[in-house]
Amino acid sequence: MRETARATDLLDWYDRHARDLPWRVGPRARAAGMRPDPYRVWLSEIMLQQTTVPAVKPYFEAFTARWPTVSDLAAAADADVMAAWAGLGYYARARNLLKCARAVAEEHGGVFPDSYEGLLGLPGIGPYTAGAIAAIAFDLPATVVDGNVERVMARLHDEHTPLPQAKPVLTDMAAALTPQQRPGDYAQAVMDLGATICSPRNPACGLCPWRPSCAAWEAGTAAELPKKAPKKRKPTRLGIAYLVRRVDGAWLLERRPDKGLLGGMLGWPGSEWNEAPGEAPPIRAEWKTLPGEARHTFTHFHLRLTVKTALVPMDRPATRGAFIELAEFSPSDLPTVMRKAYDLARGS
Ligand code: SF4
Repeated sequence: MRETARATDLLDWYDRHARDLPWRVGPRARAAGMRPDPYRVWLSEIMLQQTTVPAVKPYFEAFTARWPTVSDLAAAADADVMAAWAGLGYYARARNLLKCARAVAEEHGGVFPDSYEGLLGLPGIGPYTAGAIAAIAFDLPATVVDGNVERVMARLHDEHTPLPQAKPVLTDMAAALTPQQRPGDYAQAVMDLGATICSPRNPACGLCPWRPSCAAWEAGTAAELPKKAPKKRKPTRLGIAYLVRRVDGAWLLERRPDKGLLGGMLGWPGSEWNEAPGEAPPIRAEWKTLPGEARHTFTHFHLRLTVKTALVPMDRPATRGAFIELAEFSPSDLPTVMRKAYDLARGS
């Protein structure tokens, strides 16, 4: 009974304080019968993986303006989608996005499956995303556990087992709370609570609908939860990026292989990324090494890129990549690390 009362308290709070998000059908509209578009829910959930709401908003608006339905996205050219995704990071998501859109268009008649299992069978949709879409788009009582929800559960129950070991127990706690009534609103309500009230630092317990039954608030331990196993230090890799300009202004770029880091994205030809990369110039030229480095942090390592530039004549053949005419080159199509190398060259 206690869990039912908690869910009701949270839903009451959500009815008053739900965030206004471009992909969301708010509680009032939902109560009036409006249903979320599964395409928009899916797109937002993929974009939000590893990325914050403010970073996602402009990408979401641009994608849905350009490709208003999943069938429109499925029909898009790969290069257009990869370019539109540039800057959002974790590029495997963009490749899977296209695969998934095409699977929905070709195998499901352009309609997302309306069950957890059906969603889980689509490319790029794991248990978390399937649960989130099932709950938010189809109002199914799926348990949705992301980092926000883990933090809230750890605090609500004053659970001190460190993550990731604590995941199963936190998931069980979240499952016990998930109501049969309004599960879609509930899933979004817990996410909102974690994002706006039960935040990582300085939780605003005074405004929290769960404070009367929160064990961590009672114990004064909220700020130190959830506990986390110490992280391994990220190694640093080095690399060289070659920014080649032809005398007519064209840039030498290459599309990275589909598999692997930045797969399918445009980038500058370069060396391997490791502890001691060897030279790998893509063309014969007189190279100028720029002062400074382009630095970027990936999930598993830090990268420090040395940037070399060269100007080459019209008839000089490249051993890698292809020249892209100046009129067709848009720096915003580059992934962030490649954009940083470009910015360094432009500033020098
Ligand atoms: S009372 Fe504080 S710690 Fe507990 S759930 Fe609410 S915001 Fe989080």
